[in-house]
Amino acid sequence: MTTRSRNVVIIGGGIVGCLSAYLLGKNGYKVTILEADSLGSHASGFAFGGLDPLTGVGLPEPLLEFSLWCYGRHRSISRELQEATGIDVGFELKDRLNLAFDDEEVQAAKTNVDWMRNVGGFKVEWVDRDQAVALEPQVNPECLGALHEQSPGALEPYRFVLAAMRAGERNKVELLNRRATGLISEGGKCTGVTYENGRIDADVVVLAMGPWTQQASEWCGVDIPVTPLKGQILRLRSKKNPLKLAVNYKGNYVATKPDGLIWAGTTEEEAGFDENTTSAGRNSIMEDLLKMVPGMYEAELVQQTACLRPLSTDGLPIVDKVTGWDNLYVSTGAGRKGILWSTGMAHVLLDLIKYGESDVSGAEHLKLDRF
Ligand SMILES: Cc1cc2nc3c(=O)[nH]c(=O)nc-3n(C[C@H](O)[C@H](O)[C@H](O)COP(=O)(O)OP(=O)(O)OC[C@H]3O[C@@H](n4cnc5c(N)ncnc54)[C@H](O)[C@@H]3O)c2cc1C
Repeated sequence: MTTRSRNVVIIGGGIVGCLSAYLLGKNGYKVTILEADSLGSHASGFAFGGLDPLTGVGLPEPLLEFSLWCYGRHRSISRELQEATGIDVGFELKDRLNLAFDDEEVQAAKTNVDWMRNVGGFKVEWVDRDQAVALEPQVNPECLGALHEQSPGALEPYRFVLAAMRAGERNKVELLNRRATGLISEGGKCTGVTYENGRIDADVVVLAMGPWTQQASEWCGVDIPVTPLKGQILRLRSKKNPLKLAVNYKGNYVATKPDGLIWAGTTEEEAGFDENTTSAGRNSIMEDLLKMVPGMYEAELVQQTACLRPLSTDGLPIVDKVTGWDNLYVSTGAGRKGILWSTGMAHVLLDLIKYGESDVSGAEHLKLDRF
């Protein structure tokens, strides 16, 4: 048995764990990340990396303010991490077309334009089919039009995770490649974490294990309602021109990424902790892709990936002190928006550990006791 001691131990080296470690390290905490596999080797390293604060679960209510806060912080933290590490995290602004193919979808898009156009910093408009095709000549000309968002961002999640870790190392953040197996407690206080053949003592422990955080429910005796939601992505090589815009339809998306490949996704599958790719997933993504951009039938498949989103029961993130524990925290559950929400989640966690409360906009919606 080896024994080591640090102030904060974070279990999980995904985007949530690494970014939290970076901020805590910057604020003088001694942080160790315990990671069972490699940094960013699950959803955080294989996500698409879209940063859209206007669409998806929790939007506009109750998380619009929080999402805008997260988006704004991404703009600054991308620069901050690049300056600290030299790693370009690939932050870019990119217009997006959300296509509509029938009257109901047109009506829904126009209703969204009504509230989205009032959100500061973003220009959102309805464009008809001809305007949509003029903006992105490769979109399906059978669409009836599109909601045109200018200009939500995107980044390269894997590089972002590595940059957060490397920047953290400058503030003495350490990585320990071990699988946590339980918590050590004394009189209701968490005093450390066990792993195979060892333990690490801690003043504060953070559960940031993505969908696996569910397993810590048994360790702490408190239900953390998170389940895995599998998602697959295809990376394709096309002889056609790069797409100028990102194109979306009903939660599916396609864009040309900085690696020059077309990335198309996605699926939502309840498959337990299975991270294998499937031909059914590939076929379903291809079907949606061809509906958005028919010319992609000729594209060559380069890579297919699958990973697991940590989905809370209501789809919103959980960042809180674990009920009944003074020094045990949880940060997980961000589902399809964990790359976007990671900045806010990391700041809320820092605030809770440092001050006991957070003034990040919307932090009150992330509490564990809402379930
Ligand atoms: C196909 C797909 C596309 C996506 N696209 C986007 C997008 O465009 N925009 C967006 O905002 N979000 C997107 N997401 C969502 C986003 O990827 C996730 O919400 C986010 O990465 C979750 O980060 P995390 O750090 O909470 O979890 P994870 O990335 O799962 O990290 C958790 C880590 O904990 C480790 N761990 C688990 N158990 C233990 C243990 N016992 N001991 C030690 N370590 C342990 C795991 O090995 C893992 O590395 C996408 C997700 C998928 C699947």
